[in-house]
Amino acid sequence: MLMDPLVARMRPFGTTIFAEMSALATRTGSVNLGQGFPDTDGPPEMLEAAVRAIRDGRNQYPPGPGIPELRAAIATHQREFWNLDYDPDGEVLVTAGATEAIAAAVLALCEPDDEVVCFEPYYDSYAASIALAGAVRRPVTLRPGPAGDYEFDPDELRAAFGPRTRMVLLNSPHNPTGKVFTADELTLIASLCVEHDVVAVTDEVYEHLVFDGAHIPVAGLPGMRDRTVQISSAGKTFSCTGWKVGWACGPAPLISAVTRVKQFLTYVNAGPQQPAVAVALGLPRSYYEGFRDSLRGKRDRLCAGLADAGFEVLHSAGTYFVTADITPLGGTDGVEFCRSLPERCGVVAVPTQVFYDSVDAGRHLIRFAFCKRDEVLDEAVARLRKLSAG
Ligand code: PMP
Ligand code: GLN
Repeated sequence: MLMDPLVARMRPFGTTIFAEMSALATRTGSVNLGQGFPDTDGPPEMLEAAVRAIRDGRNQYPPGPGIPELRAAIATHQREFWNLDYDPDGEVLVTAGATEAIAAAVLALCEPDDEVVCFEPYYDSYAASIALAGAVRRPVTLRPGPAGDYEFDPDELRAAFGPRTRMVLLNSPHNPTGKVFTADELTLIASLCVEHDVVAVTDEVYEHLVFDGAHIPVAGLPGMRDRTVQISSAGKTFSCTGWKVGWACGPAPLISAVTRVKQFLTYVNAGPQQPAVAVALGLPRSYYEGFRDSLRGKRDRLCAGLADAGFEVLHSAGTYFVTADITPLGGTDGVEFCRSLPERCGVVAVPTQVFYDSVDAGRHLIRFAFCKRDEVLDEAVARLRKLSAG
């Protein structure tokens, strides 16, 4: 009998922190500001289109790269928002969420022992995808600067590149910190990719959730269009995280490589949701602006409440998330703090130290999701106030 049948390269990975914390919230009846999913539905036009598609019998395998109308809608969206041109036939691939696009890109493009430069804290599936490929992660640490924004040391980034670097895996707007990488930072990252002839895989699932500053797709920077796989997902933009409709865009040789792997992971998914996401992508700009403004209001609401409850709140410029320092409340370890939070006051948050290799850099930081109804945020804050009340 095997002690642990799991392959060695996956043994460092337990249950994801999101599943653990959502289960804890359910078990304890806590307000769940852990896992990032909205508690309201996305645009009704999109939901109706999915119902229609099911009734119209669009329930069998869609084509491998995704249905043509969705690929066309993705290409149009890329052009209209980011001035990026992709051919829907060959440069656009529909995937089972951004998660599959990331996994397929890493598995398709990295040989064993190749190095992948990423920023920590990193989204948990990055580390797992890199491990599955037998590649090696080279994280560069984001640290809170004097103004409460996360920053990295450019020399640390330069030093992370070497002869084995194959890929940069970049997430902006960034989960869990809420950082939106600046033009200067992205220009440096792009110039290192060009200098070292490295592929960029950019996770832009929060592309429409920037509250301060602007989203800059790396693919649009000099020398990057033909070395970048740009990834996004309907889950965040249209509040349908359970649909798992994502996509990857890039030059044909890279997308063809990613497709070769993707076809053996899920082959295809979300037949009836694909036409619905095509409808959603065609919504007027007012939809995107209204969604962003609503989330900005929620960010402000939760941040004010967290500060009031005694946390030191870091700056979130985008995404669904804000991080906070637990030190002023006597916390020293985010994992312990988050595990005891339901019992202490009935709220769930996520410790961000689990997203670092340099655990000490994130030990005192936790993440709250603000993609929730205002009354849910208010209830969470009312409960969290008990922490400083004694
Ligand atoms: N990347 C980041 C940064 C995320 O926060 C998430 C969670 N939605 C994903 C990827 C996964 O996206 P999807 O649900 O579309 O697979
Ligand atoms: N992206 C979501 C978050 O960061 C969680 C997705 C998941 O549970 N894998 O909270």
